[in-house]
Amino acid sequence: MNGKNLVVADNTVVRIEYSLALNDGDVIDSSVEDGPLEFLQGANEIIPGLEAALYGMSVGEQKNIVVTPDLAYGEYNPEDYQLVPRDAFEDDAELEPGMAIEFVDEESGEAVEGFISEIQPDGIVIDFNHWLAGETLYFDVKVVGVRPALPEEIEHGHAHVDAHDA
Ligand code: ZN
Repeated sequence: MNGKNLVVADNTVVRIEYSLALNDGDVIDSSVEDGPLEFLQGANEIIPGLEAALYGMSVGEQKNIVVTPDLAYGEYNPEDYQLVPRDAFEDDAELEPGMAIEFVDEESGEAVEGFISEIQPDGIVIDFNHWLAGETLYFDVKVVGVRPALPEEIEHGHAHVDAHDA
């Protein structure tokens, strides 16, 4: 399989180098530390606004992509707070504002992350907004690889990161 002339399309596995900054210019994440990000295009492995902007790009191409909150981690919801009784936590748990805590959603059984917003006498106020909710994201992206996805990857809905080495 020769990926040289491929462009980013559904059912391709894409590798990007990127940096991610917020409105104030602060870079909060980049591929410098962890290496390029690899994912199956069209499978919602990455945020929708970023995925949509990559279609048609080829290896070596670079782009600045601005993603508004509705196509990233959602708008900030001031009502997405919950008061959790202190006894829901271990007695010796050291609870501090800003700390991330994982909960299991009783209905879906899925893990949800929340952040301690405030410690009150009658419980702990947890903010369930994603920490990037309400943020516009500024990506600087360079495509460094595009290859056809393997049948198993399409079936699983995600890239097998080392599949191209096998
Ligand atoms: Zn898999």
